[in-house]
Amino acid sequence: MSAHRTTVAGVAVDTRHSIGGERVASAATFTDVSPVDGSVLGEIARGTATEARAAVAAAWAAFPDWAATPRAERARLLRAVADGVEKRLEELAVVETYDNGALLRSHRRGVMPRVAHNFRFFADRLLELDHADFDTRGHTNRVSWDPAGPCVLITPWNAPLLLATWKVAPALAAGDTVVLKPAEWSPLTASLLADIAAGAGLPAGVLNVVQGYGAEIGDVLTGHPDVRRISFTGSVPTARRVAASAAAHLTPVSLELGGKSPLLVFADADLDLAADLAVEQYDNAGQVCLAATRILVEETVAAEFTRRFTERAARLRQGDPRDAATDIGPVIHPRQLEKIDGFVRRALDDGARAVIGGHRSDSRRSDGHRSDGLRGGGLHYPPTLLTGVAQRSEIVQEEVFGPVLTLQTFTGEDEAVRLANDTRFGLAATVATGDPARARRVTARLVAGTVWVNCFYVRDLRAPFGGSRLSGVGREGGTWSFDFYCDLKNTVTGPKGWADHG
Ligand code: NAD
Repeated sequence: MSAHRTTVAGVAVDTRHSIGGERVASAATFTDVSPVDGSVLGEIARGTATEARAAVAAAWAAFPDWAATPRAERARLLRAVADGVEKRLEELAVVETYDNGALLRSHRRGVMPRVAHNFRFFADRLLELDHADFDTRGHTNRVSWDPAGPCVLITPWNAPLLLATWKVAPALAAGDTVVLKPAEWSPLTASLLADIAAGAGLPAGVLNVVQGYGAEIGDVLTGHPDVRRISFTGSVPTARRVAASAAAHLTPVSLELGGKSPLLVFADADLDLAADLAVEQYDNAGQVCLAATRILVEETVAAEFTRRFTERAARLRQGDPRDAATDIGPVIHPRQLEKIDGFVRRALDDGARAVIGGHRSDSRRSDGHRSDGLRGGGLHYPPTLLTGVAQRSEIVQEEVFGPVLTLQTFTGEDEAVRLANDTRFGLAATVATGDPARARRVTARLVAGTVWVNCFYVRDLRAPFGGSRLSGVGREGGTWSFDFYCDLKNTVTGPKGWADHG
């Protein structure tokens, strides 16, 4: 490890910013610690206003040429980035696991292939992007998606590279240039992406990565007059600051925020499937924005559902995320563990009952030694299910972002829908039912950006993605991404007035 470089599981990672095709250091650094084993992964350049402004300036300087680059060439370069991701897939998977603690097998099989797919998908989509001309009394209307300018993309730690590239790929496809600000708890794969993009031949300044604390450089980036789009994924309080800062120049903002999504289990559902879907919500130790953390079960089947659920949950193995047998790894950071524990303790004080879990896995004995036998960074929180929770209580209304589910019962569709919609969020909802007519009735009444029926987490990049209410503003995905990252223009050409050009 040096001031400029570190090695994580044999993979060299540059810890400096990537600005205008150069690696740039800062006077200060911050320490990146692994949730896997508590080891120090690196000393990361801690950006200041100077580096943040330099990154926007580099994106601004690179914009005219990138915007003028023919679509086919932009698509070719995006595919070359996808190739680069695939070539380094194993390295990316390992580094991401060390950095954020999510399962190595998920990074290998699911996440990193999807990172590559983000680039290929938007390369393909760019080449298809078209709107038929139309006529107004002999005048021709032509719709175009024009590149907008430099974009600031700000991402969280729970799925670092996946969420970053879900923004980077469409922004670059659109002809925009990018300043990416990864989360301070998991900055490493963004730095590797900068290397991959440079290796793929992306021109200098088209993709810039600036690291550091959001509280220190966020406003500089989001309030910069030369920034044309801001896409943010993270928490509601930060989103408010981003939106307020962007308001100075009325910079368009796309916000992908938290959730408190319901899983509705009707009495006519396949209860094995419903229990499988419920247990899936513990993936990534519950640090998933889309997680259906509120299980709502029809009263008549609640006991049987709970039995099948607890049977499955008991089989989940908590442990080292590098181990292929592990189902649930550590949470990302001691602060996150404290936050989760606080939510659960307050819920229990408030009268909730823990069906499973309900206490820290690494509770310390009075002699100071951990009593759980879980090795590593000590950041494990056990899968928890709470019942006896009131609808207006904190545990039902607020996002925990950990492996904590609540279970409530309902009688009939009206009550199910009322409870499901009764939070400030509206990111996703999952419905388990054996009746297609019921599925249609219920899904039509749910407030959510994505609704799954008898499935979970199936995402197609052609679909719109985003949240309603406090879960977000706007939709990205498919053509909606281009609508956001581009300046849409309609050019109307009159029937007369052309000189004769032969
Ligand atoms: P966070 O809001 O604390 O941080 C997100 C990012 O914002 C980080 O990069 C951080 O450095 C930056 N930031 C902090 N202050 C800033 C400021 N003043 N200006 C600009 N940027 C600033 O969120 P988090 O804890 O990293 O992530 C968890 C949250 O993200 C959860 O609420 C989760 O639901 C949400 N999330 C949403 C989605 C989605 O697609 N809807 C996906 C994943 C996570």
